[in-house]
Amino acid sequence: MSDLLFMTPVFKHRIWGGTGLKDLFGYEIPDQNTGECWCISAHPNGPSTVKGGPYDGMALDVLYLVERHLFGDGYGEQFPLLVKLLDAKADLSVQVHPKDRIVNHQWVPGKSECWYVLKTDPDGAVILGHRASSKACFEKLIKEGRYDDLLIQQPIKQGDVIDVPAGTVHAILKNTMVLETQQSSDVTYRLYDYDRKDASGKKRDLHLEDALLVTTIPHQEVITSKQIIKSSHATITRHINNAYFELYECVVEEKLSITHERFLLMSCLEGKGLINGSPFTKGDHLIKTILTNEVVIEGHATWIISTPHHKNKEAFPHEHLEFR
Ligand code: ZN
Repeated sequence: MSDLLFMTPVFKHRIWGGTGLKDLFGYEIPDQNTGECWCISAHPNGPSTVKGGPYDGMALDVLYLVERHLFGDGYGEQFPLLVKLLDAKADLSVQVHPKDRIVNHQWVPGKSECWYVLKTDPDGAVILGHRASSKACFEKLIKEGRYDDLLIQQPIKQGDVIDVPAGTVHAILKNTMVLETQQSSDVTYRLYDYDRKDASGKKRDLHLEDALLVTTIPHQEVITSKQIIKSSHATITRHINNAYFELYECVVEEKLSITHERFLLMSCLEGKGLINGSPFTKGDHLIKTILTNEVVIEGHATWIISTPHHKNKEAFPHEHLEFR
């Protein structure tokens, strides 16, 4: 049974992390400041591993390399996406990620990301974008420490989805949990860290020069157009269709059949039931390989599903997922 690959996640200590990943999903977390769960990851800094079946214990980066028939060609030499859960007990640093680029004659992915808000305060917000009209203005406001003038705060609520293209200044703020779907990259340039110190009294490094090189100035607001798709026993929302992936939220009331010829990354955020006959519960993450076209979910559950865009769009005219 290699149709569905259930994943064992990897957890990361962060100074801004808490215990939310244990409280909400029951995961065994390594310490009281666990900020990130790398749920579906083939990134060398923390690959998740397959749980059960013929590939039990295999890291996803190795699996993608040696068992490509599970995924199909046309996504490049590196597994394209990375799915994380983030628990921000404190504010994350204000940061920016680079776009796709060529380094030593090799294409290197940038980091465009999006957040599905799982939990936040009634006055929850994120930092998304800035008000500088030019690079000089941006530098001046930073030099003068006028971060409130520079940075744009956007209110958020549970269930919101926020698209954060590479080059966008951003930060997740305290008491917020998100499911993050992103290009598989781990490059972050920190612009501002609120002058915080770690346990040993040290401030974390800032990367102002690099950040300035990759930041989109002036800020470009992203407008996402969400699309609601009704099926008889489920409500499906397509939240994101950006340059790299599509992202769907599926609220299953009883039963949902999803048909797609390409591989899917799936995270269950609520509920339990059966998926193609195998039991699943809240906090499970899996990949639908291309050995099957159909996934049948039975039960009451909320799933977030993403699929990377194929590099050759003509080979796959049926771009979107089909629901029944
Ligand atoms: Zn980020």
